[in-house]
Amino acid sequence: MRYAIGVGANRGDRQATIAAARAQLIDGITLIASSTSHETVPVGGPLGQDCYLNAVWIIDTQLGPHQLLHRLQTIETALGRTRTVKWGPRTLDLDLLLRADGLRIASGVLTLPHPRLHERPFVLQPLAEVLAHLR
Ligand code: ATP
Ligand code: CA
Ligand code: CA
Repeated sequence: MRYAIGVGANRGDRQATIAAARAQLIDGITLIASSTSHETVPVGGPLGQDCYLNAVWIIDTQLGPHQLLHRLQTIETALGRTRTVKWGPRTLDLDLLLRADGLRIASGVLTLPHPRLHERPFVLQPLAEVLAHLR
């Protein structure tokens, strides 16, 4: 099953972090397509943050959505993600955006499609580049 994943980085060497994260899409996760990197001004969170690099990946996996979220969080942690301030600066953010079949989930830990997807140009623009690969 294919999924769209939103990628964001605004601390450290953003391009290198995103490349390192891509290299960790292994063990049952296959990268199908990647958008270009979009440099974007931070939305929400504390003022004065550095700009983001945002991208969207399409991946294919047999993992279930909660397993996949856990794998994404493991990659974030491995690349130095810490959670202090809500929407604060981060080395890496990997969000599950959509599953190809339109699966809807509202559990305590996972909402699909991503609840703020529709209001974020920094996600929708890279998503538009790779959407054809989602199905
Ligand atoms: P936003 O969700 O507004 O983009 P964020 O990415 O900064 O904010 P995080 O701190 O990375 O938020 O994640 C907070 C929690 O959101 C995670 O622990 C996770 O359980 C939950 N979550 C719910 N739905 C999703 C989803 N579709 N993708 C990723 N995380 C999700
Ligand atoms: Ca996010
Ligand atoms: Ca996130």
